[in-house]
Amino acid sequence: MKKSIFYIIAIASLSLLACQNKGSETTTEPIATTTECGESDHLINATLWMQHSAEYRACCLQTYKIAKSALAENIKNKQTDKPAAVVLDIDETVLDNSYYEAYMAAEGASFSDSTWAIWTSKADATEVPGAIDFLKYAQSLGVEIIFISNRYPEELEPTMANMKKLGFPEIPAENFYMKEKDASSCKKERRELVSEKYEIVMLVGDNLGDHSEIFDERKTAGDMLAETDEIVELLGTRYIVLPNPTYGTWEKPILANKEETARENRINALKTF
Ligand SMILES: [Mg+2]
Repeated sequence: MKKSIFYIIAIASLSLLACQNKGSETTTEPIATTTECGESDHLINATLWMQHSAEYRACCLQTYKIAKSALAENIKNKQTDKPAAVVLDIDETVLDNSYYEAYMAAEGASFSDSTWAIWTSKADATEVPGAIDFLKYAQSLGVEIIFISNRYPEELEPTMANMKKLGFPEIPAENFYMKEKDASSCKKERRELVSEKYEIVMLVGDNLGDHSEIFDERKTAGDMLAETDEIVELLGTRYIVLPNPTYGTWEKPILANKEETARENRINALKTF
């Protein structure tokens, strides 16, 4: 039902745009970009895994269980007198947007700011399993909860409404560091801003750029794997990583060849026997 409503809104918005353009020389960007046949098929199984597998749920619950154990230890090992804060990403870290991925998979659409804005305005994302329990636990320890997200400032209100609907603990608007339009997606500067006031004792995200800027400068897939091996001591202690098979910065080196379609890039990157 949730997905059907979203499709209806997306289709209605497309029709509206089409009507607005009739008889006008103004060109309006289409609200959804239909991709070449098969270009969104990679999302089908990844989205099904998130929505149907017990293993995705188990991975998330396991991750947040580890985060709870590590948090108390990290507070004990604080280095400054600043209050402790845990910094979390939002999408695919505390909010599950697999319904938007499902829309792209089913409709053969690619990501666009317009359709994403329709989705977030609905405030209908669900909880990433274990997130609410973890946030309540962090608050019970007196830890400040900070979100650094690449959602835009105008998405803050529906994001907070979405969290309230799901029973998240109350977190003030000033604790949300959103991405200004045209600003970098890199979260380094926003982490530095948070650090002026708090000691960040833990970072939680589905993309390693949520934890460190070294993962924003990705050259090859191999570099990313080598860099991960170098931070292994931080994993499960200061860096908490959630699974997300649907999208992420990991795709960038794979999709780098502009001469090929996204599907061709993906096929060429496969390691086979
Ligand atoms: Mg995310």
